[in-house]
Amino acid sequence: MEHPENDPKYKGLIVNKGVARPPSVNPYLLKRRKEDERSVAEYTEGVLSGNRVILSQAVTLVESSRPEHQEKAQAIIERCLPYAGNSIRVGITGVPGAGKSTSIDAFGMHLLKKKHKLAVLAIDPSSERSKGSILGDKTRMEKLSLEQDAFIRPSPSAGSLGGVARKTRETIVLCEAAGFDYLFVETVGVGQSETAVHSMVDFFLLIQLAGAGDELQGIKRGIMEMADGIVINKADGDNIEKAKMARSHFSNALHLFPLPESGWTPEVLTYSGYYNLGITEVWDMIHKYVDFVKESGYFDRKRKEQAKYWMYETINEQLRNSFYRDPEIAGLLEKLENDVLHNRKSSFVAAKEALDRYYAHKG
Ligand code: GDP
Repeated sequence: MEHPENDPKYKGLIVNKGVARPPSVNPYLLKRRKEDERSVAEYTEGVLSGNRVILSQAVTLVESSRPEHQEKAQAIIERCLPYAGNSIRVGITGVPGAGKSTSIDAFGMHLLKKKHKLAVLAIDPSSERSKGSILGDKTRMEKLSLEQDAFIRPSPSAGSLGGVARKTRETIVLCEAAGFDYLFVETVGVGQSETAVHSMVDFFLLIQLAGAGDELQGIKRGIMEMADGIVINKADGDNIEKAKMARSHFSNALHLFPLPESGWTPEVLTYSGYYNLGITEVWDMIHKYVDFVKESGYFDRKRKEQAKYWMYETINEQLRNSFYRDPEIAGLLEKLENDVLHNRKSSFVAAKEALDRYYAHKG
């Protein structure tokens, strides 16, 4: 029936026809569910063809702790492995505020201009506590996040540092198989996560600031020793002189360390991520290093060592999980802990008792 409002005497009033009622279930979600059911072959094909949506979903499988997801993820990784490895992996560390995101944005745009494809991953040690990731967040890299040839993935958020790092390491395989020829792995320069990053990258870059004492930057000797290059950010405006001084300070400090296994003496450079100054020089240094270690054979040797390291890390992680997640053991540990605290048992006797129970129970 015609609406009475459409009568010519109500000129100016137009009543639109109603729209069809939308389905009560969002059709996009239905499609999503189907995507969840992709086969290993479909995932692999999608990743290898560089499909970013499928790559993202495959990474989600890697990060999932559900056994069926893990199983699928491992199968995909195994199929992708022959196509992985053709990238330059750069670890980037520095305390919060050092300018990691600003620099990654600038470094990344430099690479994209040269027609490379870049994936930015992260290992965020704080994620376990906060259950949220502060690194690798797309909004922190304003320019890169708009680029088709950049894939930015925040840090996996659940689990121990070892577990989080392993997932990042597996994600590297997927990204490389998807055709990303540069990989950044970002971490905050405050603790053990550097060791994890160091054991999955070819070049380890330490971002420093001028004028901040070493203590302030939380830089332990160990982290400096791991660095293949130290770059002093914010060398712009009034800060240029200070940055130059910091450069000689760090160069001198580096000379006190023994020559690294790679045979490469780490270089120290100044640059400005914000004003895009000295970025080319930083990349020239990284490429010079890569040429040097490829020539000497260290590049391949290190990657093999890293593969071995991750095999043992994975074994350790799985054993630990299997032990601590066993409900019977968890109950026993509580009791043993109490015994140890009250001097009823020595730490070693208690540990042995727990392990014996575990072996008996598993065997
Ligand atoms: P992150 O915490 O290490 O990721 O550091 P951000 O990239 O978020 O940078 C921290 C602050 O330093 C921000 O306010 C940036 O704008 C500023 N910043 C970063 N790079 C530079 C630079 O090259 N020069 C100057 N002057 N400021 C910078």
